[in-house]
Amino acid sequence: IYSVSNLEKYYQKQHVLHDITFSIDEGEVVVLLGPSGSGKSTLIRTLNGLEPYQSGVLKFKGQEIQPDEKGWRKLRQQIGMVFQSYDLFPNLTVMENILLGPTKVQKQPRDIAQAEAKRLLEVVGLSEYANVYPRQLSGGQKQRIAIIRALALKPELMLFDEVTASLDPEMVRGVLNIISRLAKQDKMTMIVVTHEMNFAKRIADRVLFLENGELLETTAGTQFFENPQTDRAKEFLESMD
Ligand code: ATP
Ligand code: MG
Repeated sequence: IYSVSNLEKYYQKQHVLHDITFSIDEGEVVVLLGPSGSGKSTLIRTLNGLEPYQSGVLKFKGQEIQPDEKGWRKLRQQIGMVFQSYDLFPNLTVMENILLGPTKVQKQPRDIAQAEAKRLLEVVGLSEYANVYPRQLSGGQKQRIAIIRALALKPELMLFDEVTASLDPEMVRGVLNIISRLAKQDKMTMIVVTHEMNFAKRIADRVLFLENGELLETTAGTQFFENPQTDRAKEFLESMD
């Protein structure tokens, strides 16, 4: 559904992504692992047009993405993204936050969008919170809302960048369970950056291992965790135990 060929990215003089080539199929769960500073966030942001790049070809559903504002705007309607920091609009209720994209950007009829929002709120166990403001939610609740707000746009690909990294430990499980369910039950196509190794093991069809901006491994999930191909990945996994 998405392919990346020979992607090169610099921040000024710093070469942060070196000749990255990979693709993800429909229904596949790819987990992106690597040490801090290896370029995971940069890569995932590049896929959605949030970071410019210097060369390479990105294709979504077989079509080359035109790296201009119009091309990215079109793409972002089909790709959902959730980050580490919650980016809900503080002056809008939960329901209004969820409805904004479907009604304003996608021009869905309000009643249809609202019915879907209610369904999604139920799925994540937050039905009673439709009319509260983000400041009245815990971190874990905000993150669950951020996820369903992205899902309300019916994306074909979801990108998750360390969505549990700023949560208290007791909040982490609820958020990870939602992502697991999306992967296993809904067969959502997704690229997930995480430091939660047990979670990664559970959901990864494939692991991409990045170090210093180089893609060192593209390995089936089961194999990566039992028998990584490179010494660097082996050391990384040992450091995470
Ligand atoms: P972490 O696990 O800590 O989130 P990461 O793998 O996501 O790390 P990136 O955030 O992609 O790593 O950073 C890759 C490299 O690019 C780092 O050396 C970082 O300092 C640099 N970098 C990231 N963002 C910028 C920026 N906006 N301007 C300049 N350099 C940046
Ligand atoms: Mg990061």
